[in-house]
Amino acid sequence: MEELVISKDSMVPWLTELLASGREVIGVKKHRKRYRFEKLEKPGEAVLDYDVTLQSPKKFIFPPREDLIAFSGPEGKRPQAEKTERVIFGVHPYDLHAISLLDAVFNDGEKDPYYLEQRARTILVGIDVSKPSLNAFCASMGTATVEEGFDVMLTPIEGAYFVRVGSAAGRKILPKKLVKTPTDNQRAQFHNEQEKAQVRFALNRVETPVKELPALLEKHQHHPMWEELEKRCLGCGSCNLVCPTCYCFDVKDEMALDLSGGVRYRSWDGCLLKDFTRVGSGEIFRESLAHRNRHRFFRKGKYMIEKYQKPGCVGCGRCTTHCLADINPVEVFNALAQKEAQ
Ligand code: SF4
Ligand code: SF4
Repeated sequence: MEELVISKDSMVPWLTELLASGREVIGVKKHRKRYRFEKLEKPGEAVLDYDVTLQSPKKFIFPPREDLIAFSGPEGKRPQAEKTERVIFGVHPYDLHAISLLDAVFNDGEKDPYYLEQRARTILVGIDVSKPSLNAFCASMGTATVEEGFDVMLTPIEGAYFVRVGSAAGRKILPKKLVKTPTDNQRAQFHNEQEKAQVRFALNRVETPVKELPALLEKHQHHPMWEELEKRCLGCGSCNLVCPTCYCFDVKDEMALDLSGGVRYRSWDGCLLKDFTRVGSGEIFRESLAHRNRHRFFRKGKYMIEKYQKPGCVGCGRCTTHCLADINPVEVFNALAQKEAQ
């Protein structure tokens, strides 16, 4: 993998170049005390040393609402797919891991053309975390650093960013006159930063190694904790909506008032919501919040690992931040392991 270095002062000129190139450029902007991925209008708006964003960049590749077909009478046709190249700038390693999982899911079996078209036009510029968020536990999920799944990856070092080039598309968007070959000292700093990333989240960790989570969950299908979660959980679905790895959706038709046609669209859904488990004939398969919570944690810690060899939870901590009932994956997984140790 090609390795380069770019000075911190070169970030604004690089973003200026990207914005002038006609590409859509998404970056992190500050809103009061929080951060959001949004379309950049000016290069100076991009924040690179944020802790965590409210939502992951998933929303650009797999939008919360997406029109699938516009129909008129029996005829239906797909809306024109957007072709403009898009750069998402400043994606943390755990969100890159989440996008790799979504790539595997939407490429599996019946490939999802809507997701794949959005993904094909997206160039990912990652950045290592310099300011960890309070609830993140990505080191214990193996997602605090990243080796693939990016087009360009930046690691902050003294006065500069160490640059790893992950693809030809990534090479193409680099500002050629502003990148240099790293010195031995800069390479050493990069390796040091990668090691530090593993201890940066040490206070908050899932004690069970990721590859052992499926067996842990399997063993505790009937653990009393699922019933305890039933008493606390509000079934609001916020945890699903902020999760970078959740990809379930509902499909609905929206008719014109004169019923001459309409739009079929999909929108995000969540396994904690009661209607999610309601089937066409009216039965609800996971009526209780104990069962819905168990399903959620089995998806995160068992099914995804078994099917795609990737964790379904990347330890971003967003669900913990947004849960009014203080339900936290670290506590759930560690509570099961504690039972194990007794
Ligand atoms: S955010 Fe919390 S309360 Fe709401 S559904 Fe998720 S676990 Fe339950
Ligand atoms: S389950 Fe929670 S911590 Fe894990 S990836 Fe989803 S939002 Fe992040």
